[in-house]
Amino acid sequence: MIVDHHIDRIAPKGAGTEPALMEIVNSAEVVPLHPTAVPDNEAEPDVALYAARKHIYPQRVTGTFRRIKWIVLLVSLGIYYLMPFVRWDRGPNVPGQAVLVDLAGGRFYFFFIEIWPQEIYYLTGLLIIAAVTLFLMNAVAGRVWCGYLCPQTVWTDLFQTIERWFEGDRREHLLRDNTPWSFDRVARAGAKHFLWLMVAWWTGGAWVLYFADAPTLIKELAALQAPLVAYVWIGILTFTTYTLAGQMREQVCLYMCPWPRIQAALTDEHALNVAYRYSRGEPRGSVKKAAVLRAQGQPVGDCIDCLQCVHVCPTGVDIRNGPDLGCIQCGLCIDACDTVMAKIGRPPRLIAYDTDLNIKRSPGNAPEFRIVRARTILYTAIIAAVGTVMLYSLATRRAEAVSAIHDRNPVFVRLSDGAVRNAFTMRVLNMSLETRTFELTVEGLADAHLDIVGNAATAGGRTLVVVGPDQTRELRALVTTYQHLPPFASIPLTFRLVDTDNGAQASVTDNFRGP
Ligand code: SF4
Ligand code: SF4
Repeated sequence: MIVDHHIDRIAPKGAGTEPALMEIVNSAEVVPLHPTAVPDNEAEPDVALYAARKHIYPQRVTGTFRRIKWIVLLVSLGIYYLMPFVRWDRGPNVPGQAVLVDLAGGRFYFFFIEIWPQEIYYLTGLLIIAAVTLFLMNAVAGRVWCGYLCPQTVWTDLFQTIERWFEGDRREHLLRDNTPWSFDRVARAGAKHFLWLMVAWWTGGAWVLYFADAPTLIKELAALQAPLVAYVWIGILTFTTYTLAGQMREQVCLYMCPWPRIQAALTDEHALNVAYRYSRGEPRGSVKKAAVLRAQGQPVGDCIDCLQCVHVCPTGVDIRNGPDLGCIQCGLCIDACDTVMAKIGRPPRLIAYDTDLNIKRSPGNAPEFRIVRARTILYTAIIAAVGTVMLYSLATRRAEAVSAIHDRNPVFVRLSDGAVRNAFTMRVLNMSLETRTFELTVEGLADAHLDIVGNAATAGGRTLVVVGPDQTRELRALVTTYQHLPPFASIPLTFRLVDTDNGAQASVTDNFRGP
């Protein structure tokens, strides 16, 4: 009997359990898919440009890489769903949520870090680090991001687990999908879709909690008093999560995501990828035939063509056909094949993370692994450089700032007593969590007189500006001089802000314009 993953050639009853697996193992025939040990890409057959979707029924698998995926799934989803409820005491009048995007207040809070709108370059730095880290991961271990960390992979994995609760493992699900609709089938499918929608809804719900105080927003949502935009975003994310993770699944990886194409251009022969070891696996054949061939001293590979590696694949790839854009490098076929190898008494890792160079190496030659090479050094250096600049900038970050915008029209005003006056719109920033008093002075014109319109006090001839914690204050500054100015004068001015308690300073320069 030929065992195949197609629906019309399904495995015998009980596949997936140990006796059934041995039945498959012992009865599988040689299927000469590969005339040569390594696929010949030059002899590609004509293929249609459109292929109808084949529904994939991934089989449950256990093993090292499945365990890693469970851990990553639990940790990443745990962080995503629970992080909005983590509190961080920043003092009075400041949000106490550890991670918060405060769009109304124009702040991003991340534990002890608070980013103001003018510090958006930190986001640029983070994006550069994220992109280059992806390149580095790719240079070391191929699409390890896709296989373990990508949200599409994580949520699809979760949805497939839920599906197995109601529909059973691969074989049971296959059989049920080929029976007429019944109450049992409708009930199972209904329960599955309901739970999928609940997960999708909570995924959208968790997302909006990052944009407002989570406990307050939950109460408002429950009382139908939350802002409309919150309901809209929950609806959008419920729909996208349900559609992408529940319905489209591997189609997103195969057709929508650009990363496989980019990754293919970035990889090299030293990157670790999930690969089938042709030299060890071919020629493939059933256990019985392999035993006969071995006894006759004829060449025989370890692959018994049981297709377990294909049945567990979430994207339906047969990795024995060579590198495939559909392979997300999740390693589940390694677990499946290792289980088979253990049962037939052959060494594990017929499928393994290995480099192209090693796969093509002649048998007997020692494998070679070169993680440290030019591209990995370059990527690490970029990450280190950008990270260092960001850390230095964060460590030396000032908690006060001042900006000034010169009036455009009129640029200057001549007063009735002959003086010339320039006006500026100024903003004083207090990025600390205490109320602070600043003295504002102007330098650059010997007899310049500074007047502040509102929001400032004068004490002993000093111009004082009080700014509350984590706030800004806008000022209207008038600078007047009686000095004789040259024609079309443009004299550099410096506005200096000094904290009256600790002497911390900030300044901004502009020009004083004359007639
Ligand atoms: S590679 Fe391993 S799991 Fe896949 S068909 Fe061969 S023996 Fe079975
Ligand atoms: S071929 Fe193997 S590593 Fe690639 S997606 Fe399928 S199961 Fe995962």
